[in-house]
Amino acid sequence: MNYREHFIVAPGAKPNLAKIDPDFHGAEVDQAAAAAETARAIARMGELQHRLYAEAKRSLLIVLQAVDAGGKDGVIRHLFTGMNPQGVSVHCFKQPTPEELAHDFLWRAHLHAPERGAVAIFNRSHYEDVLVVRVHKLAPASAWPQRYEEINAFEGLLAREGTRILKFCLHISAEEQLERFKERLDDPERQWKISESDYEERELWPEYVEAYEDAIAATSTEAAPWHVIPSNRKWFRNLAISRIVVDAMEEMKLKTPPPRVDLAAIRRKYHAAAEQAKEKKG
Ligand code: AMP
Ligand code: MG
Repeated sequence: MNYREHFIVAPGAKPNLAKIDPDFHGAEVDQAAAAAETARAIARMGELQHRLYAEAKRSLLIVLQAVDAGGKDGVIRHLFTGMNPQGVSVHCFKQPTPEELAHDFLWRAHLHAPERGAVAIFNRSHYEDVLVVRVHKLAPASAWPQRYEEINAFEGLLAREGTRILKFCLHISAEEQLERFKERLDDPERQWKISESDYEERELWPEYVEAYEDAIAATSTEAAPWHVIPSNRKWFRNLAISRIVVDAMEEMKLKTPPPRVDLAAIRRKYHAAAEQAKEKKG
């Protein structure tokens, strides 16, 4: 199955989330096969990231958006374990600080965009400013069309400067979310995550769906495509995202740069004498 083709939102198209089954898991792989394929993809991501880092010309930005308990943390914890942490940054977009609020809404996103050679993962992102901000009416309705344009211009700039951008909307059902909240409630290790506002936000589910659909429709571009990933099944979510990331990185045709020194000369100058000495001794 070509996960990218299957889940990408074509530029200009508007996703209908009610019609996308969050339980979808394809027919081709079962959970065990998916885990093996995901492990291969994770390892491959590591090899490709090594080249990205060595090349130091381009970068990769992965944007994760989802409702609470949608799986953003799980994706980060599981899927980037093949990469060298030295070349990866993760930024969680929380409620803006006073300093962030004193700037334009894209300032903090730009601040955390990946440098050349690096991978940046956004756990939530600048899209919160057209999602939670819209649902809670923290900015006037006239702001959205304007912000979509500004987001597209911003992402266009990053892309032209060499950043490959992949955006994922982790699509779960309201029932699955409640189930996951319940699991947290029963797990002493995860009870700290529970906040009552997460439950209260559930009442705004339809408003969030509308905000997501509009935002995705307006900002899925050639340069920065959205993918809506059925995410009720974590194993399928992990498989689809890891495959899409690997495919995009393969497409970048990353290569380690050629050596900057004369290898033969280095061998002669620093290694040949030692080799000869060893031979004499031995
Ligand atoms: P969490 O991801 O559960 O740690 O919570 C972070 C919270 O910050 C979420 O409820 C987000 O909706 C909220 N948040 C993130 N960005 C913004 C923003 N620009 N304006 C208002 N709330 C935000
Ligand atoms: Mg939360």
